[in-house]
Amino acid sequence: GPSSGIDYRAELNDEQFAAVTSPPGRALVIAGAGSGKTRTLTYRVAFLLDQGIDAKNILLLTFTNKAAREMTERVRSLVPHDVSALWSGTFHSIGNRILRRHAEDLGFTKSFSILDTDDQKSLVANVVGGMDIDTKVRRFPKSDVLITMFSLERNTGEPLKEIIAHRYPYFDDWQREIHAVRDAYAKRKQETNSMDFDDLLLKTLELLKKDEDLLGLYQKRFRHILVDEYQDTNAVQSELIDLLAGGGSSVMAVGDDAQSIYSWRGADMGNILSFPKRHAESKVFKIETNYRSVPEILELSNAAIRANRARYEKDLRSSREQLGVKPALVPIEDPSAQAQFVAQRILELRDEGIPLEEMAVLYRAHFQSLEIQMELTSRGIPFAITSGLRFFEQAHIKDVAAFLRFVTNRRDETCFKRIALLMPGIGAKGADKLWGEWLKTGWTTKEELPDWVEVLKLKGVPKKAEKHWKQFGYIMAELTPGAEFARPEDMIYSVLEGMYDDHLRATFDNYDNRRSDIEQLMSYAGNFEDVLELLSQLSLLSSADGQPGGQREEADTEKVTLSSIHQAKGLEWKAVFLVWLADGAFPNGRIIEADDEDMMEEERRLFYVALTRAKDELYLSYPLINPKSYSGDVIQRPSRFFDDFPKDMVEEWNVGSGWSGGWGAADEPF
Ligand code: ATP
Ligand code: MG
Repeated sequence: GPSSGIDYRAELNDEQFAAVTSPPGRALVIAGAGSGKTRTLTYRVAFLLDQGIDAKNILLLTFTNKAAREMTERVRSLVPHDVSALWSGTFHSIGNRILRRHAEDLGFTKSFSILDTDDQKSLVANVVGGMDIDTKVRRFPKSDVLITMFSLERNTGEPLKEIIAHRYPYFDDWQREIHAVRDAYAKRKQETNSMDFDDLLLKTLELLKKDEDLLGLYQKRFRHILVDEYQDTNAVQSELIDLLAGGGSSVMAVGDDAQSIYSWRGADMGNILSFPKRHAESKVFKIETNYRSVPEILELSNAAIRANRARYEKDLRSSREQLGVKPALVPIEDPSAQAQFVAQRILELRDEGIPLEEMAVLYRAHFQSLEIQMELTSRGIPFAITSGLRFFEQAHIKDVAAFLRFVTNRRDETCFKRIALLMPGIGAKGADKLWGEWLKTGWTTKEELPDWVEVLKLKGVPKKAEKHWKQFGYIMAELTPGAEFARPEDMIYSVLEGMYDDHLRATFDNYDNRRSDIEQLMSYAGNFEDVLELLSQLSLLSSADGQPGGQREEADTEKVTLSSIHQAKGLEWKAVFLVWLADGAFPNGRIIEADDEDMMEEERRLFYVALTRAKDELYLSYPLINPKSYSGDVIQRPSRFFDDFPKDMVEEWNVGSGWSGGWGAADEPF
C-alpha cells in the first residue's frame, strides 16, 4: 500500500479514483460544481507523492493564494512526506518566484519591486503629468482607466487602438497620447526596476521563451502540473502552462465550463473546451456525482444551467439524501424588507444550530449588500465581507460623504482636502495651501451660514481646476442646510450631477458599479430628513466595523459571510441567501439591453455558481420595489432566470411586510 496509508478507494468515488490514479499524461477533469474537483486535485498530489514523485517536481496552480495554502495544508495532513519543495500558488505568485531568480536576464535586479494598484496609479499619473497633455479641452482618462486599458491589451492581445475605440469611445480623441503614456509607463517601470501584476506573467513568458536552456530546466523540474479552476484562465496563463509542460510534463487541469465567470477580465473558456485538441492523447475525466448539495438544490442548479447552449453535457446526481425542504423563493417588498428577512432568518438558523460561518449572503454587485450590512449591524450579527470594502469604506462613498460633511461642518479640514484633491492639478501641497486660505477667510469659525461664494475666491486654485472649483462653490451654495435642496438625498443628487459624476466617469474603470453604489446611497438617504442624522449613521457604521456599538471583535467570533458571487467561487456553506434576484439586477440591466447571447450565458453561469454554493438551504429573494430617489420607485419583475426551472422546484414564501404574496396574475413569475 501507499506510504501515506490513504485508502484511495474508500475516500474517492470511481470517477475521482480514476483521475487521481491515472498514469502520467495530459488529463482534463471536467465536472460540475461540488463534484470534488478540488478534492481530486488534492488527492492527486498526495498520490504522486505516494508514487515516489519528489515534491519539487510538482507545480500546483490555483485561483487564490488562500486556496493554494488550504490545499497544501490538506496534502500535508494526508501524507507523511515533506512537501516544502512543492510549488503552489496563483499564476502571479509562481511568475514572481521564477522572475526573482532570473531578473537580471531581463534587465531587472532580483530585488525588483512589485507595483500594487496604487503604485501603478501614481507612476502613470507621473508619466501623464510630465507629458504636458492639454486636458482643458477634453477630459483625459485617469490613471485607473489607463491602467485597465494597458492591461486589457496585454492580456487579450487586442491592440490598444481597438480597445480604446470599442470600449472607451469617449476617449478616442486621445489615441496618440494614450499610446505615448503606455510606452512611457513601460519605460519608467524598467528604469525604476519595478513590475506590475501583468509583468509577473508576461515577463515570465518572455524569459522562458527567449532562453531555451532555462525553459528546459523548468520543464524538467515541473514534471507534474496541476491546475484548479481551469475554466477561468486567460490566454497568457494557458500559454504559460503549455510552455512549462512543453517538455512532456503531465498536466492535470480541473474545471467546469459552466462556471466560467471571468471573461470580462480576459479569461477564455475556450481554453478548457479546446484542451483535448491542444493536447494530443489527453484523457477527459468526468465526475457525475455531487457531494455538496442536497438533491433539491442540485436539481434546481442543473435546471438553471441547462438553459445555456450545451457545452460539455453533464448532469449531476446528488450523493446526498433528500432534505425534504425545497429552496425558498422569497418575493419581498423592497431592499430593506429583504435585509430584515435575511437577518431574521439568519438568527433563526443560528438558533436551529447552524453556526454563522456556515451561512453566506451572496449578491451580484457590491452595492446590493448595503441594506444587508445595515441590518446585520443594527442587530449585532457579526459578518465578514470577502469581496471589497465595507460599503462606507469605499472611496467614492467617502467622497460623496465628504461633500455632505463639509456642508454641515465647514471646519472639517479632512473633508475640505478630500474634495480639493478630487480636482485636476491639486495635490497634497495644493490642498494644504487652499485650506490655509480658507482659514484666513474666517468662515471656518463664523457661526452664521457660510457664504459659499467665498470658497470661490480662494487664492491658489490652479487654472486646470478653476471650472471644478466654481462648480464646488455652486454646489455648496445650493446645499446650505435649511435651503431648498436640503434633504439628504437631494444633496447627494446635487453633488453627483453637479460635479462628482464627471469625476467618477474619468477616474474609475467600473463606473457603472460605482454610480449604482451612489444611487443606492441616495435611496438609503431617503430614510432621513436631516443630513446630520444620515451622517452620524454612516460614521457609526464605518467605525463599528460591523460590530454593534463599536465593540471590539472577539478573537475568532463566528461570522456570516457577505460576498459577491465572483469571490465565492469554489466555496461552500450550509445556508446561502442569494439576494436581489430581480430582473435588471440579476441578470444585470446592461446585459439585458446589450441583447448579446454570450454575455447572457456568462450571466447565467454566474447564477449557477451562486446556486451551487449551498449545501442544505437556499433562499432566493427579490425586492419587488426598488425605491430610486430620482426616477421614482421602480417596480421590478422577478429574474428571468426563474423561467428556466419549473415552479414546483421551489417553495414560495410569503414573508409579509404588507406584501400579500404572489405576483399579479398578468405577471406571473413563471
Ligand atoms: P466547485 O466546482 O464549486 O469548485 P468542486 O468540484 O471543486 O466544487 P469540492 O469543493 O472539491 O468540489 O467538493 C465539494 C464538497 O464535496 C466538499 O465538501 C468535499 O469534501 C466533498 N466531497 C467531494 N468528493 C467527495 C467524496 N468522494 N466523498 C466525500 N465527500 C466528498
Ligand atoms: Mg473547486
